[in-house]
Amino acid sequence: MSRILVVEDEAHLAQGLRFNLEAEGYSAEVVGDGETATDRLLGRKENFDAIVLDIMLPGKDGFSVVAELRAARNYVPVLMLTARGRPEDVLKGFASGADDYLPKPFDLSILLARLQGLLRRTTWMRGVGEAEKQGQQAAMPTGDARNVDDFGTFSFAGKTIDFGALELRTNGTVIHLTVMESELLRHLVRNDGRVVSRKQILEQVWGLHEDTDTRAIDNFVVRLRRYIEDDPAEPRHLLTVRGVGYRFLANPEKA
Ligand code: CA
Repeated sequence: MSRILVVEDEAHLAQGLRFNLEAEGYSAEVVGDGETATDRLLGRKENFDAIVLDIMLPGKDGFSVVAELRAARNYVPVLMLTARGRPEDVLKGFASGADDYLPKPFDLSILLARLQGLLRRTTWMRGVGEAEKQGQQAAMPTGDARNVDDFGTFSFAGKTIDFGALELRTNGTVIHLTVMESELLRHLVRNDGRVVSRKQILEQVWGLHEDTDTRAIDNFVVRLRRYIEDDPAEPRHLLTVRGVGYRFLANPEKA
């Protein structure tokens, strides 16, 4: 049974969520503030399979909670609840390390679907780890509309991006990617050599409206450059195309 932590201070909403999650067969617990959430996850090292995390919380907000978890190398899947019409929250959430988001007010069925998506991904990743130990191939998740190559790997310049495991491996170091970072990298890699516009990234990769503040994407790119460039100040693989967007080059020498 998957164990879910709901971090939400609106008691009515939190209890409704708990009730419905339990009705769906999950084990669900509710905490009303960020401090308690980080205490249970990091202080007491409790294990949860996923977190439903509201942004607006008394004291420590949802952004700080997820940032603290990631800083402490806790990669529990986080579904963040944002206020509708605030795409900057979504991007800030991704930048903090959230895996997915849902604008409030939301349909319960959508929340459950998103949660299942996150859990399925985690289960599949665990399956890969187990299978690798035994030298077998992991079974693909069933009922998933994603393409097979969504779960593949891509290697360039001594680095390997593992989209399924959400990892970037380079010289023996492993960098953990959030789902959104992985999605952005995958989109750039698929368009190797081609210019990808900011509008395309917002709409096709993250499902946001094009009127979203695009500076948030730039912050994301700065972070990805730290992961993939030898010198992030002089990028060779992830280039800015002024006024348009970005271009990924696996082999800058051949371009
Ligand atoms: Ca709240």
